[in-house]
Amino acid sequence: MFDLNNLLRDNIKRLVPYSSARDEFKGEASVFLDANENSFGSPLPQAYHRYPDPLQWKVKYKLADIKGVPPQNIFLGNGSDEAIDILYRAFCRPGIDNVLLCPPTYGMYEVSANINDVTVRKATLTEDFQLDLPAMEAAIDANTKLIFICSPNNPTANAIRREDIEMILNNFDGIVVVDEAYINFSKQKTLIQELTEYPNLVILQTLSKAWGLAALRVGMAFASEDIINVFNKIKPPYNINQASQELALEALNNIEQVNSWIRETVEERNQLEQALNTLPIVEKVYPSDANFLLVKTTDAKGIYQHLVEKGIIVRDRSKVELCAGCLRITIGTPAENRELLTALQAVAAQK
Ligand SMILES: *Cc1c(COP(=O)(O)O)cnc(C)c1O
Repeated sequence: MFDLNNLLRDNIKRLVPYSSARDEFKGEASVFLDANENSFGSPLPQAYHRYPDPLQWKVKYKLADIKGVPPQNIFLGNGSDEAIDILYRAFCRPGIDNVLLCPPTYGMYEVSANINDVTVRKATLTEDFQLDLPAMEAAIDANTKLIFICSPNNPTANAIRREDIEMILNNFDGIVVVDEAYINFSKQKTLIQELTEYPNLVILQTLSKAWGLAALRVGMAFASEDIINVFNKIKPPYNINQASQELALEALNNIEQVNSWIRETVEERNQLEQALNTLPIVEKVYPSDANFLLVKTTDAKGIYQHLVEKGIIVRDRSKVELCAGCLRITIGTPAENRELLTALQAVAAQK
């Protein structure tokens, strides 16, 4: 049985969170002398002399609208990285508890575990980049508090089968984190609508990819209100700055632009996949549900170097488990994709 109270670390259960000036007075007033801010103003045109809303309600109400989930079920972090770090600090006792990862996958899960002195257990994906359920079952024990599943997965680009994710959600009494950073590019639907069904589900999304706001550092977590309250208790009081909150809100009102870029990216992805498949240096282009392609080549290192010389940077993933010979290529603009193809045709001609 999933029991949040039982899963939480004792120090977090006991924790009395920081209470800011803005927490202690919430009404209307005209003179604010409670936060040691600069009462004269900020040296910028914007009113940046006031601390921002610690819980970012305006952004959350807008997101609630877009995502179809109550704002109380949303956490905003300084990138998804902050949500990942908080999960370890909330649930994993350093040196005692462990996390289950399914490589090849996003590197931050392991780095953050190492920072928090949490043992990493691994169940490598199957050859077709799906969850190895028996291996996962064998890898967990009573101290396994978190399982990270990335879907669509980075760097393999595919979505993880939904039945498999639900199988884990139904059978694991710890927290199941489903990282949906690339969900906007996927045929598969988000699990957000399943939150009411699974008290152990945490979904990560981000404004860094489809939303085109990587520089603002805004990551999202969706979970039960009880879990979101745990996140809020642990996070630094003002973890999303005022500029990021205002700009995120403005961007969220421009969903049409983002949706049209998503359609264009998917179209470009499908065209690029076809074009790459005609090149003799390409052995395989893996099916993608994301805004990048994992491409198995005859010589990852050589091709990477050649592209660098042409001023084109892709990601060499050839040293990664199950990814021998592979480059990870982000979908660019039509002009960038043409430039990439021209450069790759030149390498192919040399070989
Ligand atoms: C890019 C990416 C993120 C986004 O991280 P931010 O800190 O929000 O920029 C999260 N998860 C995966 C798998 C990613 O590839």
